Amino acid sequence: MELMSSGEFVRASGLSRKALRLYDELDLLRPVAVDPASQYRFYDPAQLEQARLVAWLRRLGMPLPAIREASRAAPAMAAALVTAYWDQVEAETTTRRELATFLIGYLSGKGAAMDSMDNAGKTEGTLAIRYAVKTDVGLQRDANEDSAYAGERLLAVADGMGGHAAGEVASAAVIDALKPLDTQVPAGELLNALDHAVRQASRTLTEMAQADPGLSGMGTTLTALLWSGSQLGLVHIGDSRAYLVRDGKVFQITHDHTMVQTLLDDGKITAEEVASHPQRNLILRALATGLRCEPDLQLREARPGDRYLLCSDGLYDAADAASIASVLCTAADPDEAATELLRLAIEGGGPDNITCIVADVVPQLTPVSGLARA
Ligand code: MG
Repeated sequence: MELMSSGEFVRASGLSRKALRLYDELDLLRPVAVDPASQYRFYDPAQLEQARLVAWLRRLGMPLPAIREASRAAPAMAAALVTAYWDQVEAETTTRRELATFLIGYLSGKGAAMDSMDNAGKTEGTLAIRYAVKTDVGLQRDANEDSAYAGERLLAVADGMGGHAAGEVASAAVIDALKPLDTQVPAGELLNALDHAVRQASRTLTEMAQADPGLSGMGTTLTALLWSGSQLGLVHIGDSRAYLVRDGKVFQITHDHTMVQTLLDDGKITAEEVASHPQRNLILRALATGLRCEPDLQLREARPGDRYLLCSDGLYDAADAASIASVLCTAADPDEAATELLRLAIEGGGPDNITCIVADVVPQLTPVSGLARA
């Protein structure tokens, strides 16, 4: 077998001398012989195929160790390695594309515009929500310090506290901080996005209280759900609640951050003693000046047929659990359910502001074609 000089190999392979030297240094393609006196490199003609493969794999963007392995493997194994590499690139690209789509929508406030891009061509497997939101001042309060938001992807209830309008300010500020999330958030970013928004809201409350002493001591609960496909992110802090109705059963899916709940968990009081406990209004965690921002975060799977309820304590303090469950299981649609729940709380004396959001998860079988790209 006659070896080729590096000049011959360069001409035959179409690679530059610089590339050939680099491949040698990187252990991607070694000359088969080096003249000890002149340092001239010699290549086997059979290495031409390997040289071309190395050049192609580099253009593909494969990392060096993977190129080394693939360029030395038998063709079938090399093909499998390229397949595995490309599958990984496509998966990463999909994740990055979703994140970019979300960021563009988030930063430009064009969530609906991004929907049309994202849902183009999808005709099945997507879930949508049908929702209703109702709020009432109740029978004994002068003002409504609850705030709520319901959109296609975001549902949120906040129960403000602090008195003298400060509670209203706090709950509205936190809801405002969450609203930009009502867009296409990638499923993998749901909890990050919620956590980030809540921490941002907490900082905003602190800054507002520093700027206006009249607002010091204000705070708010927050319970919110954010959808992406069939994934559901839940953020919760305070004593507002989220319930899930699935297969005819009602589950409370949040845990109250209250003194009485802690005593109940520790077995120090019974469920019957909660309503009359002197510290029943003491909240241990909330978005409030002076309290650490420690929300609970959960990722959940949504199913068609699920019904969710988000509510402030004005509902469950005034209406008993069995009546709430009965309404949730029998109401024909979210609007009827929310209206009935409000009625229950008013009939129970309406001592506090009452807010209810009821949402039904439904299959979305038609593509979102009516949304214009802005
Ligand atoms: Mg309340």
